[in-house]
Amino acid sequence: MAHFLRLLPSVPVPDLTGIVDILVVAFLVYEALMVVRGTRAGPILIGILIMVSLYAVALWAGLEALRSLLSFIVPYIGLAIIVLFQSEIRRALARLGRKRWLGAGFRAPESVNEILLTVERLAAQNIGALIVLERDIGLRTFIESGVRLEASLSRDLLLSIFAPGLPLHDGAVIVQKDRIAAAACFLPLTTNPALSRAYGTRHRAAIGITEETDCLSVVVSEETGRISVASFGELTPTPTVADVASLINLHFGVQRPAPSPIDEFAADIPLAQAAPSTDGARPEKRPAEKVNLP
Ligand code: ATP
Ligand code: MG
Repeated sequence: MAHFLRLLPSVPVPDLTGIVDILVVAFLVYEALMVVRGTRAGPILIGILIMVSLYAVALWAGLEALRSLLSFIVPYIGLAIIVLFQSEIRRALARLGRKRWLGAGFRAPESVNEILLTVERLAAQNIGALIVLERDIGLRTFIESGVRLEASLSRDLLLSIFAPGLPLHDGAVIVQKDRIAAAACFLPLTTNPALSRAYGTRHRAAIGITEETDCLSVVVSEETGRISVASFGELTPTPTVADVASLINLHFGVQRPAPSPIDEFAADIPLAQAAPSTDGARPEKRPAEKVNLP
């Protein structure tokens, strides 16, 4: 005990700068862990840590053969991290640069309303859709993979784009503020191994684009009529459009969308018939949920 107490004065007491320093490092480590959690980067990171630890042990214990072998590899670890963790680094930077923190935000409440009404309608008719809302990181690369529209965002246009059988219904619509930048865009698919096998390419594309950039994607399943929202590599099921609205508001800090008279378009637009299932029976249609904007 006396020996322990003698050691105490030698423990440096951090001043205010030191405390801030420790908190910032702890925060960065936490954010880095959040980004790699549940992704393929996790095991790679553990592998790299094991290699660095082995190198330290080899130095400490004087294991000359192991040290000289690892000394060829260790200097390239920095480069390997950049190459292997490209998308994780992009995601981490996107998380750091969240507009919510910087005060400004994507403000297009009317457009949000149009999107909500569209997905509500598509879900009720089991029509698949994928709508990506751009935030700070530009989506030009992905816009160029589709058909440029540069059109005002409206529910009617979105419904026409996703109408089955028409040329633009396949792929994603990319929205920049209150404009539809492009349709039929091809997005990167997530390779997250932790993702359920139940998700097909539409949902994987919805998640994939949010791993690479800070956008938000709204996806409607053709099979189940369920709506989900993806952001920062995570997919959240949203049973009602009110949930979609909350997530959009949370992500963009938009003002509360003005309530819109749902009855105005309720059930009388015969957009498209739900696709028949493989056994020839028509799939059950979900009743249209009431739009309750938060
Ligand atoms: P659903 O629940 O609607 O069936 P899913 O997640 O099971 O969706 P699929 O059934 O594979 O996915 O959906 C195929 C559709 O997803 C394609 O017709 C296309 O519109 C869209 N899609 C597939 N890959 C991409 C991609 N890389 N980028 C954008 N859209 C894509
Ligand atoms: Mg499917």
